[in-house]
Amino acid sequence: MKEDILIIGAGISGATLAERYASIGKKVVVLEKRGHIAGNCYDEYDENGILVSKYGAHLFHTNDAGVWEYVQRFAEWYPWEHKVIARVDNKTVPIPVNIDTVNILFGENISTEDEMKAWLDKNRIPFDKPKNGEEAVMNRVGPVLYEKMFKHYTKKQWDKYPEELNASVLERIPVRYNHDGRYFSDTYQALPKGGYTKVFENMLNHPNITVMLNTDYFDVKDQFEGFEKLFYTGPIDRFFEFQDEMMEKLEYRSINFVTEHLDQEFFQENSVVNYPGQEVDYTRIIEYKHFGNQQSPKTSIVKEYTVDTGEPYYPVPNERNQQIYEKYKEKADLLQNVYFVGRLANYKYFNMDQAFRNALDLFNSLEASNLKPHDKSFV
Ligand code: UDP
Repeated sequence: MKEDILIIGAGISGATLAERYASIGKKVVVLEKRGHIAGNCYDEYDENGILVSKYGAHLFHTNDAGVWEYVQRFAEWYPWEHKVIARVDNKTVPIPVNIDTVNILFGENISTEDEMKAWLDKNRIPFDKPKNGEEAVMNRVGPVLYEKMFKHYTKKQWDKYPEELNASVLERIPVRYNHDGRYFSDTYQALPKGGYTKVFENMLNHPNITVMLNTDYFDVKDQFEGFEKLFYTGPIDRFFEFQDEMMEKLEYRSINFVTEHLDQEFFQENSVVNYPGQEVDYTRIIEYKHFGNQQSPKTSIVKEYTVDTGEPYYPVPNERNQQIYEKYKEKADLLQNVYFVGRLANYKYFNMDQAFRNALDLFNSLEASNLKPHDKSFV
């Protein structure tokens, strides 16, 4: 087959590069191992007519105006400010920790930012530069909330305690001095009408793009050798495994999604309910019909159990994995016209917008000399 651009994986990174290259007239082939596009953003309507995500809830949020402009080309987006609540000690509290979290859990009567700051000052253990996830949480909220809301959730999620992870993992969750119960505080927070899969269909719907599903690159790579550039979005260590390189494997976390279809209108009061304690093995329960306020006499819920093996969803950010990754990256950098892009290939815990940004930046930098001023947008 004759293609200019070969892309492995039809998730955010792959679809963005495919769309950008097609837009400047290149012939693009996308090889996708799974039977569908959209990577882990894939969603579909289930037997109760509810739009559910096959690989966990995906909440788009960004402060990046260029990414926001870009994604709006492929769907109509409606505003959606995600909220998460947690069941702790038989109580229900907002997460991130805010005034209400503290009042409910500890019977306090805090009402102002100053009182909240004073409560935190009394409880937190300051660290100038937290070296790991435990220090990050101690620095923000202190040991009591660490034990109740972060320690065991993290162990369930990563099979590691926060001290075994980079601070950045736990720093994803801020602390609020007010009543703001939103999970994110970004300027743009929205979901695509009709779901994410349609966004990807629109991105890939171009005469210059051919998508081949159920096609594992490593089974067919001999047939695809005439490319100008190859973009690989899978796990970086898998790429080198097939080059017969004996190198240490990187760790990934996968999720076992256990779905229940229930003959009742609602199961819980919110889309996502976290279970940070040890009383259950799952980390959270998602009830998809809350997203976009979908109507149905029935409901579907998904319990998330994270596991070591299976489809990789998360890199595991800590020093050891970073060192292993650096070795792969050295090898990757030596390859001509082969680029590693996205969460799994860069081994970075990207949010959705960061994955779009990364792919757009890569395209803009590689093609800088070929782009006319109006092509180089979304920056
Ligand atoms: N976390 C926690 N308790 C919670 C929610 C999150 O300890 O109730 C920690 C946990 O280590 C988790 C990390 O914060 O992996 C990041 O959470 P986030 O919700 O960003 O994870 P994601 O939605 O990407 O799985």
